[in-house]
Amino acid sequence: MSLSHLVVNNPYNGEKVGEVVAGGAAEIETAVACAHTGAELMAAMPAHQRSSILTHTAGQLRTEATELGYLIASESGKTWNEGIAEVKRAAGIFQLAAEEARRIHGETLPFDAFETGEGRTGYWLREPVGIVGAITPWNVPLALAAHKIAPAIAAGNAVVHKPAEQTPLNALKLQEIMLHVGLPMTALQVVTGLGEEAGDALVRHSDVPFVTFTGSRAVGMQLPARAGYKRVALELGGNSPVIITESANIKTASAAIVAGGYAVAGQLCISVQRVLVQRTMMKQLVDALVPLVEALVTGDPLEAKTNVGCLIDVAACDRIESLVHSTMRSGAALLYGGFRIGRTSFAPTLITDIPTDRGLAMDEAFGPIVALLPYDTLEQAVAIANATPYGLNAGIFTGQISQAEYAARNLNFGAVMINDVPSFRSDLMPYGGRKQSGIGREGVRFAIEEMTELKVICSKSISLN
Ligand code: NAD
Repeated sequence: MSLSHLVVNNPYNGEKVGEVVAGGAAEIETAVACAHTGAELMAAMPAHQRSSILTHTAGQLRTEATELGYLIASESGKTWNEGIAEVKRAAGIFQLAAEEARRIHGETLPFDAFETGEGRTGYWLREPVGIVGAITPWNVPLALAAHKIAPAIAAGNAVVHKPAEQTPLNALKLQEIMLHVGLPMTALQVVTGLGEEAGDALVRHSDVPFVTFTGSRAVGMQLPARAGYKRVALELGGNSPVIITESANIKTASAAIVAGGYAVAGQLCISVQRVLVQRTMMKQLVDALVPLVEALVTGDPLEAKTNVGCLIDVAACDRIESLVHSTMRSGAALLYGGFRIGRTSFAPTLITDIPTDRGLAMDEAFGPIVALLPYDTLEQAVAIANATPYGLNAGIFTGQISQAEYAARNLNFGAVMINDVPSFRSDLMPYGGRKQSGIGREGVRFAIEEMTELKVICSKSISLN
């Protein structure tokens, strides 16, 4: 039987970058069957060997950062510099996993704390779940694959990876690197294909006890019902706010807003989308922001001078264009941008006076648009920030510790950044969302917890005769 194929196109110019197999349920079946062997091999592999494979993966990623960064930029439309930075970040995640692999351990248990436990000694330990199903998006394709594959291997699991259909080539390259540095062939299966075919089959497979998914809220929220009796971790979308108080350092805040709002053309789950500005500071902030946005160069992601790449496809650009037009029809005021550039690029856009009950104020834009919303009191700002269905990261710029503490306590988000934008993430922190932004946490140590199961060993002393 001949297999059908998916063409991978450069989102900026539509040129063909490559072609992969369009796998479906049959390929997932084969991959899971192979992964059973991989899971046995990995569970038996000593920690120092798993650690060594991860260290060598990190090293090889660093060696190939420029070429792999180019491939990521060609597939995803992020800039080449962003692509290189992503490869280096992925290398750091593998390095961290190499270190964590050496310290996965349990504790002794004081069984004799209860009368029924007298004469018993024992401990708990962590065992791998077996096969991890990993489904990843196109916007940070390598680093987010690393966030699933590296901890899974560190913990002694096998992985079946279904990368996004837009960006499968870097996933295949990562697999090649890992096999080259000594990972058993059956321990990492990559099945390229469409989400509703290969992805759905992986989610539903009864031999995959844990599925870790990063992607949209629309898809992610349907998965637990389809997955059946298994654990599912979800890293979904966001609509991240940053609060600017009267005591904020406007120069620092403006630079951070521009970096966090327009990186990867705003297509990050923790992009700055809403800037909540103390009303008296609005003019000062706009005056600082507009020249910075104006200075950004939007263009071919593969050119060194480009700061803002393109949207993932024509449909995404159409969606952003119509979102801006409908927001304008509702009475919003454009401060900068608002127009399409060519096929899939959109000018970095700064907008204010938006409707507060829908659109940009509530949903995930996933494009280069930052909205400024005025507030009067910090209580009001926190209430506005919390008013969406999302809860990934939030931020506050303030010179007052009492304001920082109030925001940290009352923002209903997975993380609160003080004097930074919500776009900051460290790969060692427990990362994940509240409300409809997800279930579970990534960040290597925390992912390892999700990818292992606890077992108790209890030994009862018996008399010698
Ligand atoms: P998407 O949901 O369309 O696709 C994500 C992955 O899921 C892809 O591999 C896709 O093929 C697969 N998929 C699609 N339908 C499926 C199905 N029915 N069953 C199983 N798998 C299926 O998302 P996307 O457009 O690739 O990514 C953008 C979204 O991801 C945004 O909403 C963004 O905020 C979110 N995201 C979240 C994080 C996070 O860490 N929270 C990080 C990056 C991106």
